[in-house]
Amino acid sequence: MPLVRFLADGFFVLSHPPEEKGGKNEMIIVMERFALSAEIEQVSERLKDRGFQVHLSQGVQRTIIGAIGEGIQENMDSFLVLPGVEKIVPIVQPFKLASREFKAEPTIIKAGSTTIGDGSIQIIAGPCAVESREKYLEIAALVKESGATMLRGGAFKPRTSPYSFQGLEQEGLEILAEARELTGLPVITEVMDPRMVDLVAEYADVLQVGARNMQNYFLLRELGRIDKPIMLKRGPSATIEEWIMAAEYIISSGNSQVILCERGIRTFEKYTRNTLDLSAVPLIKQLTHLPIIVDPSHGTGKWKLVEPMALAAIGAGCDGLMIEVHQNPSEALSDGPQSLTPDNFRKLVSKVCNIQGILNISRDGE
Ligand code: PEP
Ligand code: MN
Repeated sequence: MPLVRFLADGFFVLSHPPEEKGGKNEMIIVMERFALSAEIEQVSERLKDRGFQVHLSQGVQRTIIGAIGEGIQENMDSFLVLPGVEKIVPIVQPFKLASREFKAEPTIIKAGSTTIGDGSIQIIAGPCAVESREKYLEIAALVKESGATMLRGGAFKPRTSPYSFQGLEQEGLEILAEARELTGLPVITEVMDPRMVDLVAEYADVLQVGARNMQNYFLLRELGRIDKPIMLKRGPSATIEEWIMAAEYIISSGNSQVILCERGIRTFEKYTRNTLDLSAVPLIKQLTHLPIIVDPSHGTGKWKLVEPMALAAIGAGCDGLMIEVHQNPSEALSDGPQSLTPDNFRKLVSKVCNIQGILNISRDGE
């Protein structure tokens, strides 16, 4: 039977008792307000002595210590008498560090001039792939002028056919870096291979894990050791739990700067390329502290559906949008049918601003 737990800030957590998951009872130790760092240190050391991995969540109000992994569970009550300890709460979710229980405050991620997750709406825009220097620099300037706050463009493209355009690779990364110089906007691009993580991180402000790689655990672990934000796209057949577990891989490997991206899942529906699951947006907000971006371009595969679904995504409470834009979609080397023209992109941004006004949310965190 699932349990429903209400958290202090009004969010509820849907969870399953541990026996249904066959999982261990990992837990968090909630420290008192103003607990001393020596007290936090003492609890952490004792948990490590028991064989737990220790992860700290330093909130505004108090510090939470996560005791994750295999560890001796017996007589945990002995921790309650240590100075500074308020209570011990089991984390019943299969994901721990990504959960709202571990961290109640939303995670806010900075990438250059852009902040994601602070209540603002960020708009990531650009073509599916970087096709040439001239075309990319032109579209980068156009989307910036229309209000984009981050640039996108694939340099390494995951294509269904090995005969399709695979991207400009390192040359594409260099073009992205030049566009950042010219526009002042941060850039996001996909990394497909664990061996390429350092190369892509040299150029990109945010590294994207594509839908097809969501469960590439070697890649996720490699991304855990770098100090750049990661945008993790939902796999085409991934459940929400599998998706959050993939985020957990990155966070537990050392990188807590994870942004989720809903880009549609595969269903029986044929009119659209994917079925954009907007219910994922409020669910992710309830279950995790991570920001979530919606990609209605891949989520629908049809440019005419991009604007209405973008507006619906704002209504659902996302932290931003990822939109494919191309000067001439009919000639795009990939994903032309779902790409907006610069003109249609400008109209989309203006409608997003209107919706924000109605919903009374800010676009730049003010
Ligand atoms: C992309 O962003 O261009 C892309 C390939 O997306 P996805 O991994 O969601 O298919
Ligand atoms: Mn694409």
